[in-house]
Amino acid sequence: MWCSGVGLHSGLKVALVLKPAPAGHGIRFLRTDIPDSSSIYAHYNNVVNTFQATTIGSAGVSVSTIEHLMAALYGGRVDNVLVELNGPEAPIFDGSAEPYVKLIRKALLVEQDEARNYLAIRKPLTVARGDSFITAVPSDQFQVRYEIDYPHPRVGKQEYCFELKNGNFGSEIAKARTFGFLKDVRKLQGMGLIQGGSLSNAVIFDDRELLNVEGFRYFNECVRHKILDFIGDLALTGLPVLGRFNIRKAGHALHSCFVNELMDGNGHVIPTSVPVSSAYFPPEVSAIAR
Ligand SMILES: [Zn+2]
Repeated sequence: MWCSGVGLHSGLKVALVLKPAPAGHGIRFLRTDIPDSSSIYAHYNNVVNTFQATTIGSAGVSVSTIEHLMAALYGGRVDNVLVELNGPEAPIFDGSAEPYVKLIRKALLVEQDEARNYLAIRKPLTVARGDSFITAVPSDQFQVRYEIDYPHPRVGKQEYCFELKNGNFGSEIAKARTFGFLKDVRKLQGMGLIQGGSLSNAVIFDDRELLNVEGFRYFNECVRHKILDFIGDLALTGLPVLGRFNIRKAGHALHSCFVNELMDGNGHVIPTSVPVSSAYFPPEVSAIAR
């Protein structure tokens, strides 16, 4: 199943294809525009940049802005897929994960024979920077509570709690678009970023107002997008996670730092493929995109 669009930061047009992959393969990205390059495993060890987006790379080859696709795959319970793209950055589309959710739905998902593996939070972890923090505690569900606080009349303080169940990622989280402030746009463009950015792929605010004539998709669209980004970054553990997460005013850099500490080998997580008492995570199921 394929699609094409422009990269938010590079402005480059790119075609992206989801291809089937065997159990145990994980999510991998292959740059078809670079001859003989190897696929890059979507894994926290391969994160090379977290400024304004999450970039993975290995052997000098990278793919950026993967977080919305990663979130859509996580929300759609796709464990094994080869993502081929002919450019350095995944398409931004409308700034949300909804086009990726639709793409995955169009692909035929199949259950694979292998047991589905998880990571369960075993002991609580908090990672904090200033007044930002991320906390994880054990749970047999996957739940993310996020809080943001921007000094802007159309954003302000927002909090939302999302529990992944019964395919609700598509309706509750996927439609939320990335957002930014006009005062930052020129600065970022001067740094060579958001070259493909526009009101068609982001929610933009000036000093007082929302500039998008269509308005918000959810009244609390901004905090829902932060949950989307967190899920996409957490997916770089390489496995679905069972646990409850509480987050305040974080971003890609803190998400990434948190994932590194979670996976640092000090027993915060325990791999499990044992059935859990949840209707939402049938452990025998993993998916493949065709
Ligand atoms: Zn985002």
